[in-house]
Amino acid sequence: MEKPTLCSECAGRLFARPASRRQAHSNEGKSQIKPALDGIARIVGNGEGCFICQGALASLPSLVESALSQSRGFEWRTFSVSSSFSRATLMREAEVATHFLPGQYTSLKNSANSKIAEKIAKAAGKKNDQRASDASFEFDFTSKKAAARPMPLYMHGHYVKLARGFCQSRWHCSECGGTGTRAAHFFAEQKRRPFSQSEKRAARLRPSAAADGGAVGCDSCKGSGMNYPSVEEEIGKVLMPLFGAAGCTLHASGREDVDVRCLGNGRPFVAELAAPAKRAADLGAAEKEFGKNENVRAIGLRIVHKNFIDSVCNSHFEKEYEAIVSADRALTAKDAERICALSGARLQQHTPTRVLARRTDMLRERTVYKISAQAIEGGKLKLRILAEAGTYIKEFIHSDDGRTKPSVSSALACRAACDSLDVVAIRDYFLETVND
Ligand SMILES: [Zn+2]
Ligand SMILES: [Zn+2]
Repeated sequence: MEKPTLCSECAGRLFARPASRRQAHSNEGKSQIKPALDGIARIVGNGEGCFICQGALASLPSLVESALSQSRGFEWRTFSVSSSFSRATLMREAEVATHFLPGQYTSLKNSANSKIAEKIAKAAGKKNDQRASDASFEFDFTSKKAAARPMPLYMHGHYVKLARGFCQSRWHCSECGGTGTRAAHFFAEQKRRPFSQSEKRAARLRPSAAADGGAVGCDSCKGSGMNYPSVEEEIGKVLMPLFGAAGCTLHASGREDVDVRCLGNGRPFVAELAAPAKRAADLGAAEKEFGKNENVRAIGLRIVHKNFIDSVCNSHFEKEYEAIVSADRALTAKDAERICALSGARLQQHTPTRVLARRTDMLRERTVYKISAQAIEGGKLKLRILAEAGTYIKEFIHSDDGRTKPSVSSALACRAACDSLDVVAIRDYFLETVND
């Protein structure tokens, strides 16, 4: 390899020992580097003549300016920086580094990042925090583009689902692909097979219907695009406008079925708010707003760090349920006694038939710690069940054709059905002790 020419920046970065890097950028430092470089590389003042960077960093000040002006659109106190260079640049750097310095050096990327961080901190008076930042500054020195984006905001709380018929996360209608229009369905179907003229006429759709969003609503979801309304959307409806966020994704500890309510203190969640314009808001006011919602409420809101999602999602909590049980005969106080005898039972549960299409058939053991029952009107029983995390409660009641043993059905020696089910308590007290 011929003696490369390097700009003073690149030379200082590569040849200065770590302790003297700071000096390397000073004039005194440069005069010390020069002798070390003699016979290895030539220093040119001008970056464009530099073998490694070819003047890539010349755009740094203007890119920082551009990113800073973008960052004025949202609130932030801490920021992270990342930058990218062309592969060719990084390869040229590696070439010089391996030839001349098998040891330590500061890479172009790290050097650019710390220069940028310094500039932003100074200009905006904000703190650089690479791991927990409010704003992400990204610099692409190949395309000479910079972007500043708000990082997601994480809100922990508990949701209470007062109504049945809500799923936890958005569940898009498969008929229309979530668009709510028949046009979308029509064109998706047409991709699979060409439609005949008469079919097209029957659909009463012209190609323009797709462009204008489709004039005709999807029959399956009544135009909503969703199979069911969701807890996620209800929470997003309140939190998104409050923080000026572009989206809301719900992370929760387990989920109840669409037809199961979640009462009591609710279920722990972390709502991930995408691209929030604000990072603080009156959470008391938010809870008041939730209080007006007859279906889904969120309580105990607080802002947490991203890793709190793991604490919430990877924890398994004992739960208490209330169920109304009916059978193919009238149930009595005597039956209630039979149910109570199931307290402490170790259940053998095969994967429920209703989810077998999605999951492999497995046998799991779960404990019903405590169960009480009382006869209520209509020949039914009201059950209160405290069970281990992951117990299939509906199956425990109706036995899933004997796939769960023992069961309420087996204890009653008749066919029992779960008329309704509510989660009434989730024992997640430990979450309060987790530092966010
Ligand atoms: Zn250079
Ligand atoms: Zn639909």
